[in-house]
Amino acid sequence: MATPSHLPVAIIGAGPVGLAAAAHLLAQGQDPVILEQGAEVGAGIRSWGHVRLFSPWQYVVDEAAAVLLTEQGWTRPTDDGHPTGHDFLDQYHVPLAAVPAIASRLRLGSRVIGVTRSGFDKMKSFGREDAPFRVDLERADGTTDSLLARAVVDASGTILSPNPIGASGRPVPGEAAAAGHIAYGVPDILGAARERYAGRRVLVIGSGHSAFNALLDLARLGNEASATTVTWAVRRPAARFAGLFGGGAADGLAERGALGSRTRDLVENGSVQLVAGFRATRVTQGTEGLTIAGDDTVIGPVDEVIVATGFRPDLSLLSELRVALDPVVESPVALAPLIDPNVHSCGSVPPHGAEELRHPEPDLYIAGMKSYGRAPTFLMLTGYEQVRSIACAIAGDWAAAREVRLVLPETGVCSTSLVDAPGASCCGATIEDVAAATGMSSCCGGGPAREADTSASSSCCGGATTSPQVIQLTPRRRFPATIGD
Ligand SMILES: Cc1cc2nc3c(=O)[nH]c(=O)nc-3n(C[C@H](O)[C@H](O)[C@H](O)COP(=O)(O)OP(=O)(O)OC[C@H]3O[C@@H](n4cnc5c(N)ncnc54)[C@H](O)[C@@H]3O)c2cc1C
Repeated sequence: MATPSHLPVAIIGAGPVGLAAAAHLLAQGQDPVILEQGAEVGAGIRSWGHVRLFSPWQYVVDEAAAVLLTEQGWTRPTDDGHPTGHDFLDQYHVPLAAVPAIASRLRLGSRVIGVTRSGFDKMKSFGREDAPFRVDLERADGTTDSLLARAVVDASGTILSPNPIGASGRPVPGEAAAAGHIAYGVPDILGAARERYAGRRVLVIGSGHSAFNALLDLARLGNEASATTVTWAVRRPAARFAGLFGGGAADGLAERGALGSRTRDLVENGSVQLVAGFRATRVTQGTEGLTIAGDDTVIGPVDEVIVATGFRPDLSLLSELRVALDPVVESPVALAPLIDPNVHSCGSVPPHGAEELRHPEPDLYIAGMKSYGRAPTFLMLTGYEQVRSIACAIAGDWAAAREVRLVLPETGVCSTSLVDAPGASCCGATIEDVAAATGMSSCCGGGPAREADTSASSSCCGGATTSPQVIQLTPRRRFPATIGD
């Protein structure tokens, strides 16, 4: 690298992966500066701090961070306990940010609004690699500033960019106008938002662990406020339900598996009405509440909608840099076949690091949740190994950067039916296996699978595959969101 070595390494985002990156860079003798848009570290996790992590402590503490913390007399929480987001921040993340070597390099209230090569727009090549990065930021008071950096690690996550209601990926007509009755992610249903949901007709849209958490909390609220009714709309049709509830007992993370199993119970005992095959196209506000139209049916009226359709990366701040992203997943190209949920759902991502995460722009890395683009299965453990490797690469130790080690707990759900190669499984693939399959990238080692529909899959990892009770929509049917209507 030819950029001036006295410049710091800029880390965008003080989430768990951003702070872990700082710890690893310090261990490599580097000088990180951490830029966080929030007023506190871990602002993303604080927004869902009421949710209990499905990962136990042993999977959410970074080892370089633990070294720094232990030097300050920190006591490591019991390995098998499951913290809430707030516990995680209060017992690990906030103390880590207070370690003097990190605290002195942390800039809160500093939102990065753009990164470029100083003096070089995206088009300019000659001399580009010798130019430092210029990181533009906006402070909480609206003033702007910029700093120079020798390398950039974008660990800004995706939590600030939730997916919209629209099944086509765009907000639907009426979605913005109804914003006062629509929440994205997992609202604090049993806490701060209790009054908003108690006794109301609530529709949850989307599948995955955030939807499970919202449904479970709503069902608990319904036990206390019996007028609360819960409808759950998912895009996949009932005929393709394998894996909807996760891997159950086959999940390597017991709590993650249990979330799906408990949600399944809610559907089966009628506490939650499940609507299959629903693709939202319009939200309409009427005197009786909101109605949400699909291609050929309508749900409602309801009082509140919770959209748990995942998150996407905000790529605008990198628009002047040469970034190579997969057109489907929006992750670095080499990482995409390892995590594309169309073909790889079991969560057993092979170890990967700086080599797989590098871009045409030298010394730029996207790490953490954002590195997964739109793929949903990111775990902190993955991010910690990513930034260990990236820190080694930035320090010039490519041998250590390439020596990646990571064993992830499997989800228990795998897209095997997309496979036509015998004997291969995504659950045990090495990065070479997957790389060899790129282009015909099946999670399980063969077949032209990346265009396929995951929902047609069965489980190779032992997940539950029997059909739950569901409501299958029929054309032009109006679906009453209130159970018993
Ligand atoms: C409800 C829920 C439960 C989860 N449970 C688990 C679990 O049990 N185990 C697990 O491993 N993972 C879990 N995850 C995934 C989890 O979010 C990630 O593992 C973790 O938060 C990712 O860390 P990160 O540092 O990459 O991103 P984040 O935690 O999102 O941190 C990104 C940080 O960047 C900041 N930021 C964003 N934009 C900018 C900007 N432009 N400039 C400056 N700063 C910026 C944000 O404020 C934030 O502080 C869960 C996610 C959700 C939503």
